[in-house]
Amino acid sequence: MSESRVAVVTGAARGIGRASAVALARAGYRIAGADIAAPASSAMDYEPATPGDLAETGRLVEEAGAEWLPVVFDQRDRRAVREGFAQVADRFGGVDVVFANAGIQGFAPLLEMSDELWDDQIDINLTGTANVLRAAAPLLVERGGGRIIITSSTQGQHGTLDGSGYSASKWGLLGLMKSAALELGRYRITVNAVIPGLIDTKLTRHEDRYAQIIRSGGNEPSGDVGQDERAAAAAQRKKLPLGVPWVEADDVAPLVVFLASEEARMVSGTSFAATGGDSANVTA
Ligand code: NAP
Repeated sequence: MSESRVAVVTGAARGIGRASAVALARAGYRIAGADIAAPASSAMDYEPATPGDLAETGRLVEEAGAEWLPVVFDQRDRRAVREGFAQVADRFGGVDVVFANAGIQGFAPLLEMSDELWDDQIDINLTGTANVLRAAAPLLVERGGGRIIITSSTQGQHGTLDGSGYSASKWGLLGLMKSAALELGRYRITVNAVIPGLIDTKLTRHEDRYAQIIRSGGNEPSGDVGQDERAAAAAQRKKLPLGVPWVEADDVAPLVVFLASEEARMVSGTSFAATGGDSANVTA
């Protein structure tokens, strides 16, 4: 693809979004990085991204030699999302690639969960991603083709103990991806998903996540963060064929770069995973 192609990455302030924005920048795209860069849900047990995090992604993208446009929106807000895409089109003249990646994750058993924990995950992960896709698709049609890549999860491929809202949202995204692939192919737009395994980001590195991993193995967490982190890491090493506890965000980014590329023009309606081998534990 030529240097002038434009990629929009959501959830760009950190984690998988940042790693992918930088990888796309290195691959020659101009980058618009969108994020809420503020607390997205009070039902989350980990620290939110900040405007400084989004600015740091911008610094890294520019260091990689690419043009950078930061865009701040809450992807639940359809109007703000449309305005954000209009800003990108104004600045760069159009959009070629959308990596719809922003999301949140929280855990609680169905019998105990707050309404907010369910609503925020469905509203942000599923409906919010659909908002991004629906705002972006007309711009890709206008461009004569393009790429949409959605971040799902292995938890969108199997049930998740104490993670029903997240699993439902990420499973739903695979349905969205496949339906959109059917509808948008005629416009030369491909739609695919990436499936990250357990990735070393703020979303996973906290007590609640360690506790969930330990409980999934039939044990009880100690409540001591250091001890539970070690126990979760040991459980992951045992479970993953490639023997790592966490996969890096930089291991997911190459999938995004490939799916965005001209070479992937005949790849649509499917998902590519970077899970340290955990994909062997899901069907197909
Ligand atoms: P992360 O570091 O927390 O990054 C996610 C980013 O999305 C954050 O900057 C977050 O901002 C932003 N965001 C949240 N709600 C938003 C909203 N309503 N509008 C706009 N931006 C919003 O997490 P990550 O691990 O990189 O996760 C990226 C994606 O991968 C998510 O969809 C996640 O579900 C998925 N995923 C992650 C893993 C993993 O193990 N890490 C595995 C599978 C899938 P705030 O922090 O300010 O809310």
